[in-house]
Amino acid sequence: MKKEAIARKEDLPDEGQVSETTCKVCKAQIDKLSRKINKESTHLIPLLEKPMRTYNVNFPVRMDDGKIRIFSGYRVQYNDARGPCKGGIRFHPKVNLQEVMELSFLMTLKCAVVGIPFGGGKGGVAFNPKNYSKAEIERISRAYIKAIAHAIGPDKDIPAPDVNTNSQTMAWMLDEYESVKGHKAPGAITGKPIEIGGSKGRQYATSLGGAIVLREYLKRKKQALSKTKIAIQGMGNVGSNIARILAEWGAKIIATSDSRGGTYNPRGLNVPKLLEHNNKTVATFKGGEKITNEELLELKCDVLIPAALENVITEKNAGSVRAKTILEMANGPITPKADEILEKSKIEVIPDILANAGGVAVSYFEWVQNTTNHYWKEHRVNQELEEIMVSAFEEVILTAKKEKCSLRRAAYMLSINKVLKAEKLRGRV
Ligand code: NAD
Repeated sequence: MKKEAIARKEDLPDEGQVSETTCKVCKAQIDKLSRKINKESTHLIPLLEKPMRTYNVNFPVRMDDGKIRIFSGYRVQYNDARGPCKGGIRFHPKVNLQEVMELSFLMTLKCAVVGIPFGGGKGGVAFNPKNYSKAEIERISRAYIKAIAHAIGPDKDIPAPDVNTNSQTMAWMLDEYESVKGHKAPGAITGKPIEIGGSKGRQYATSLGGAIVLREYLKRKKQALSKTKIAIQGMGNVGSNIARILAEWGAKIIATSDSRGGTYNPRGLNVPKLLEHNNKTVATFKGGEKITNEELLELKCDVLIPAALENVITEKNAGSVRAKTILEMANGPITPKADEILEKSKIEVIPDILANAGGVAVSYFEWVQNTTNHYWKEHRVNQELEEIMVSAFEEVILTAKKEKCSLRRAAYMLSINKVLKAEKLRGRV
């Protein structure tokens, strides 16, 4: 019968597409790791090279001048073997399906490495919010969520903020989602304002998670934080909060920067004063001497923290890095070639999927609070974050020791094995 050749409805990818495109980051990492993946799982690797489901939506939005413009948005659900997909939504003119897909793969690994029960997803809309009014951004946010509302939800795929989106954007998106569904569903989106179901501590969770990982790392090296000199690139949400936390814990922050330049003081910057000053640019801070971003990356220090953009340490400048350790708080700040150079120079890298996972961990706590309708005190959020980050760090460091490999390779290995194990346990493969 003709009909039998057609897949059953439940086999169809929920109106999304199964992508033909391969995830480049995944392929590159898996090629390096293939010998380290559990032997009984190696035949499953091709399963991870492509996302489970991709959505490309094009939707009209009325601009303030009355004209209609069409916007393109994406949502990729890379893998949901460990739980509902989880990942941010970015607004940026360069957003495209390939980029969203690569980021959704990294989210799959990030959730697995810290052991939270989520898979990986990511989304975005291709436009530059700087060129639009607040009212237009609200209409774009609502129209995008309306277009993908059938594909997301608290038990399916849970978006959050990312580049150029924030708690206000999440509030508009949640409101739109709930209007489409006709009921309240605060667990459908995380990173919301506290007043409508956001979690205490979310604002600085990524930085606190990274600071905990660094503290544990230094403890193992028997190095006191008070004797640790740190340089931080980027003074946005992540950079300024990690500077504050590490300075409160006694570390010496000797340099920081933003897009307009940096400031350097070998005796340690006065961080509270610097944060007060940060509304302009740190480059004009009187408590330090002016340096460029390039100089900051090459400073002699114990720990370098890139917390701004991707691909800032490349094969061109990796040889000039003089830090002993790099804590990757930005996503992908080191290119694969630079990574090899750093490894040869014995500069240890604490990888992004571990170092900056504190944000998604507290997003998970937000989802737990929303689904139980019981809200936690800030102290409890931070305590639970501490436990998750310490145990994830220990798992990664033990694996690196056992396998005699870098922390990055250990983190990838652990997370890929966890995802493949979940696929097998479900009997999907
Ligand atoms: P943000 O927009 O708040 O801050 C970015 C900072 O980088 C700003 O200080 C900006 O001036 C600076 N910057 C921009 N261009 C620069 C340049 N050329 N040189 C030096 N500095 C430059 O962003 P954020 O939320 O702090 O995120 C920073 C990084 O951390 C990003 O890679 C992001 O993907 C990653 N990250 C953020 C979170 C989170 O919870 N916010 C979670 C995981 C990963």
